[in-house]
Amino acid sequence: RMQAQIQVQRQDQMQAREQMQAKYYVSPKKADLAVRIAERERRILRGIDTRNGYSLYIGIPFCPSICLYCSFSSSPLGLWEKRVDDYLDALLLEMRACRDFFSPRTLHTVYVGGGTPTTLTPRQMDRLLCAVEELFDLSHAMEFTVEAGRPDSITKEKLEVLRAHPVTRISVNPQTMNQKTLDLIGRRHTVEDTVRAFETARSLGFDNINMDLIVGLPGEGIEEVSHTMEMVEKLRPDDITVHALALKRAARLALHMDEYEKISFQASDQIMERCEAGCSA
Ligand code: SF4
Repeated sequence: RMQAQIQVQRQDQMQAREQMQAKYYVSPKKADLAVRIAERERRILRGIDTRNGYSLYIGIPFCPSICLYCSFSSSPLGLWEKRVDDYLDALLLEMRACRDFFSPRTLHTVYVGGGTPTTLTPRQMDRLLCAVEELFDLSHAMEFTVEAGRPDSITKEKLEVLRAHPVTRISVNPQTMNQKTLDLIGRRHTVEDTVRAFETARSLGFDNINMDLIVGLPGEGIEEVSHTMEMVEKLRPDDITVHALALKRAARLALHMDEYEKISFQASDQIMERCEAGCSA
């Protein structure tokens, strides 16, 4: 039976590869990579009872500033600072309703994302995480992530609050380790901020830290990406997530593309290979 299942899986994979290439003009190399990733994910998901379980996503829609490429639903904290407590009041009501709605099911994972969750003050973060613990049964949760995200919003005090709750994974996202690019894309933090935030998290005992990177950022070629990878590899994060820049209509970068037309946008095979080498090291 196992042999038959493997055979069916192989046929599925072949069909998936063929469809991606014929219908969506995906290169054979990328189609192969997509199938390999799907297979890995399938192995992880196999042990999860999705029918009787669920995952909780909590969004904090504020950021220190809005990145040039951003199309997420997030606003600058400076404009909404006085309303964050109101937002939390409403969020907690919604969490209560979700708890009632999903209560017979098993909670598998919690992800606090955004926006930038660490724009919350330590007191606000503590209030949110206390509510998660109070409302939901976390005894079967396999992962509890807080996307700290922007290094300019991460402080030792906030990380200590996360440590005081059952958060198992955080994300410290440089996107790039080139200051020139950070300035261009409006991140308003420095490379040193990223290193400091990462090292503080490590010193407090976080043993599952992800770092998000973006390839294809304006003005970045293989040299800049290699520099970023070298710096990130030195920090030894537990995961590296590499995104390819996807410009959606609402992003400022897409709206004002003519201002950036002299800047190159590259996501070559060479860049992808450099990232793959770094991620599998
Ligand atoms: S940190 Fe993320 S959500 Fe916030 S502005 Fe930048 S891209 Fe958008």
